[in-house]
Amino acid sequence: MTSTVIEIAGLRKSFGAHVVLKDISLKIERGQVVAMIGPSGSGKSTLLRCINLLTVPDGGRIAVGDQAIQFSGRDTALPSERKLAKFRASTGMVFQHFNLFPHMTALQNVMEGPVTVLKTPKAQAAAEARALLQKVGLLERADYYPDKLSGGQKQRVAIARALAMKPGVMLFDEATSALDPELVGEVLTVIKGLAKEGMTMILVTHEIGFAREVADQVIFMRDGVVAECGPPGIVIDNPQQESTRAFLGRFK
Ligand code: ADP
Ligand code: MG
Repeated sequence: MTSTVIEIAGLRKSFGAHVVLKDISLKIERGQVVAMIGPSGSGKSTLLRCINLLTVPDGGRIAVGDQAIQFSGRDTALPSERKLAKFRASTGMVFQHFNLFPHMTALQNVMEGPVTVLKTPKAQAAAEARALLQKVGLLERADYYPDKLSGGQKQRVAIARALAMKPGVMLFDEATSALDPELVGEVLTVIKGLAKEGMTMILVTHEIGFAREVADQVIFMRDGVVAECGPPGIVIDNPQQESTRAFLGRFK
């Protein structure tokens, strides 16, 4: 049985006069892995940030799980802070630049959200955080501070930290782009493991081979629109549009 976990309809976002997302609609089913590719500036990060409400859309509707928010221009009042916080917590975001708290150990980074936001008792949060660090292969680094970790290790802590909030969907914005090439694999392995467990994910990535391997659906963004969308065997291997072919040609 499939069920829709993310549904976006008519999503729009401008920064001043610059229209960055133009009427985006898409649907993601539970357990699907969606790879989002496309040129720099095409709106990939803005789309992820809208789903996570780090950026507030100008119009359209976003539903994640059983929660939905309609954005319809400046006369509509935004939902209450409480509703926004709950909505935000339904997705976990991993950024290119880790954004770990530098003054906290790996374990404390992973515990922080559950303790302060979910009010999970400390002992329980610590036990869950250790389990997550084990899952990303870093239990033995639990008491290290971020500056004593490699980029790949920092990113794996960031993934554990996002998972600690028990989101229904994970969003990765170029999670491996800032890493030295030899550290990319360990992070992709963790992401692959999550895919295998059935986690619903959207991955903005330039790792085309990885997208082909793990994605159920590939979205090609161009100039703020979904230019092409479908299984990797089509969008990556047999793109229907010239702009997709031109973009992918760079990776050959
Ligand atoms: P991508 O992730 O595909 O490279 P982005 O979503 O980051 O693209 O950016 C799309 C466009 O929106 C770019 O032209 C970028 O300069 C612009 N943009 C993104 N965020 C902002 C912002 N906060 N203020 C103004 N312009 C922005
Ligand atoms: Mg981006």
